[in-house]
Amino acid sequence: MSSPIRRFFTSFILPRWKLGLGLITAMLGSMALTFPIPLLFRKIVDELIPQGRFGELSLIGTALLLIVGTRGLLSYLKQYLTVISEETLVQDVENALLRHIMTLPPAFFQNREVGYLMARIRSDPAVAKGFFLGALSIVANAIFLAVGAGILFWLDWRLALVAVAILPVLAVASRWLNARMQILCQGIQEGDAIVSRELGEALSSVLTTKLLGLVRWVEGKVAEAIERLKLANIRTNAVGAIASGVLTFIVEAGPVLLLWLGAYRIMQGGLSLGTVIAFTSLITYLYGPTQALITTNLNLQQARVAARRIFELLDEPPEPSGGRLLHVRYGEVRVEGVTFVYPNGTVALRDVSLTVAPGSKAALVGRTGSGKSTLLSLLVRLHEPSEGRIYIDGQEVREVDLASLRRQVVLVTQEVFLFSTTVLENLRGGDPNISDEEILKVTYALGAHKFIEELPNGYDTVIGERGGKLSGGQRQLLALCRAVLRKPKILLLDEATSAMDSETERKVWQALKELLPYTTLIVAAHRLTTVKSADWIFVLKGGRLVEEGTHRDLIAQGGEYQRIFQEQLATATERR
Ligand code: ATP
Ligand code: MG
Repeated sequence: MSSPIRRFFTSFILPRWKLGLGLITAMLGSMALTFPIPLLFRKIVDELIPQGRFGELSLIGTALLLIVGTRGLLSYLKQYLTVISEETLVQDVENALLRHIMTLPPAFFQNREVGYLMARIRSDPAVAKGFFLGALSIVANAIFLAVGAGILFWLDWRLALVAVAILPVLAVASRWLNARMQILCQGIQEGDAIVSRELGEALSSVLTTKLLGLVRWVEGKVAEAIERLKLANIRTNAVGAIASGVLTFIVEAGPVLLLWLGAYRIMQGGLSLGTVIAFTSLITYLYGPTQALITTNLNLQQARVAARRIFELLDEPPEPSGGRLLHVRYGEVRVEGVTFVYPNGTVALRDVSLTVAPGSKAALVGRTGSGKSTLLSLLVRLHEPSEGRIYIDGQEVREVDLASLRRQVVLVTQEVFLFSTTVLENLRGGDPNISDEEILKVTYALGAHKFIEELPNGYDTVIGERGGKLSGGQRQLLALCRAVLRKPKILLLDEATSAMDSETERKVWQALKELLPYTTLIVAAHRLTTVKSADWIFVLKGGRLVEEGTHRDLIAQGGEYQRIFQEQLATATERR
C-alpha cells in the first residue's frame, strides 16, 4: 500500500470501522450463501428426482427458498450500508478539508482560485469514496473467487479448467474496455468543466456583453463548448454500449459452452446431469466478482490520486494557533521598527515605528501603494512582520492566540463581502448573543436604518451574492454595522467609508464615537476630509513613516501631507 492510501485508510476509514465491518459481513454473508445453491441443485437432479424422494424434496425446496430470501435481505443490507458508508466518508473528508482550509493563512488563498478550491473539496472526496468499497470488495471478491474455483475443481476438474479459462478472457476484455471508458470519461469531465467555465463567464459578463454588442460572440463560445461536450458524451456512451455487448456475450457464452461440453461428457457417461447444472449456475455467480475485481482495481488507481490530492491540501501548514489569550483593556497599539516584505519581494513597509493612544482615532495617510493596507493587515496578523514587533496593550501580536486577537481587533476593508441571506442575518452573522434591539440601535446610529427599511422586505430582504442589490455606500454601511456589532476593542477601517458621500461619512464618524466610545480607531483613507478630524495622523510614503501629528501641525509643517492636501483642494476647486 502506498502512503496516501495508507494515510487515507488510517485517517478516514479506520475511525468508521464499524460501518466497514458491517459492510464486509453483509458481503461475505451473501457470498457464502451462494455456494449451497448449485450444490443443492445437483442433489435434486442427481439423487432426489431419480430416486423419487418426495419428503426430502420439500425440505430442500424450503431450504433453497430460505437461502435465496436471506440473500435478498443481505443484498439490501449491503446496498444500504454501502450508501451510508460512502456518503459518510464523503462527508468526513469534505468537512475535514473545509475545516483545514479555513485555518490556512491568507497567503494561501492569494495564489488559488475559488473555483479551483471548490472543485478540490467537492470532487476529490467523491472519487476517494470509491476506495472504501473498493478495498473491502477486493478482499471479499478474492475470497469468493478462491472458494468458488475450489468447488468447481472439486465438482469436476476438467470442466473446471474450461470454466476458469473463460475468466481471464473476461478479465482482459473488462480491463481493456474499462481503461478506454476511463479515458473517455475524463474527456467528459474536461468538457463539462469547459461548459461550466464558458457559461459562468457568459452569465457574469451579461452587462458588458450587452453594452459592447458581444452577444453573438459569447453565445458562439458557449455553443461550441456544449457541442464538444455532446460529442464526448456520445463517444463515451458508444464505447459503453460496445462494452456491455461484448461482456454480455462472454458472460452468456460461458454457460453455453459448459453446457455443450458438459452434455457431451454426460452422453459419454463421464458426468452426472446435476453436476453440469451445478457447474453452469455456479459459474455465472463467479463472473460478477471477476469483473468487480477489475473495475475496483481501476477505481483504486483513481482513488489513490484523489487521496494524494486530499492530503496535499491537508498538509498545507495552517496559521499558527494557540498562545496566550489577548486581553485588550485600553487599546494601545505600538509598532516598533516594523519592516515587511511580501513573498514576491516587494518591500511594503520599512522600519515603521508608531504608537496609537488608547481610545483615540488615528489616521493613516499616504499615496496609493504607500503601505497603509499592509500595516493594517499586520495588526490582525494576516501577515507577520519580517522585522520588528507589534504590541497591543503591551502584548506582542505574534505571540497571542489568533482567535482572541481577531475577536477584539476587527479590520473592515474597502471591498465588502455580504452573504446571500437576509440583511438581519448578515448583521448577526450567526451570533445568537446579538439581539434585534442591538442591531436596530447600531443601524439607526450609523444611518443605515433608513435605507434598510426601504428595501422590499426591510431587514428580511435577501441581498444577492456579494450584496449585489445594494449601492456601494450602502454595502459599506452594512459592513460597518456588522463590525460594530462585534464590539471590537480596536477597529481598523481600510477605506471603509470611501464609497459614501461626505455627509453620510461625517455622521458615521460621529456615531462610531458614540457607539464605541472606548474603542481605538485606526483609519486608512485617501480623502482628507475623512482624516482631518482624527486625533493623530500618520503619513506613509513608500513604506516609510515620514510625518505624524494633528491636521493643523502637518499643514503647518508643509511636507507630504500638506502636498496631498493641496492637490485634493485643487482638484476639488477644478471640479467646481
Ligand atoms: P492604496 O491606497 O492604493 O490602498 P496602500 O497604501 O494600501 O495603497 P498597500 O496595499 O499596503 O498600499 O501596498 C503597499 C505595497 O505592497 C504596494 O507596492 C503593493 O504593490 C504591494 N503589495 C500589496 N499587496 C501585495 C501582495 N499581496 N503581494 C505583493 N505585493 C503586494
Ligand atoms: Mg490600501
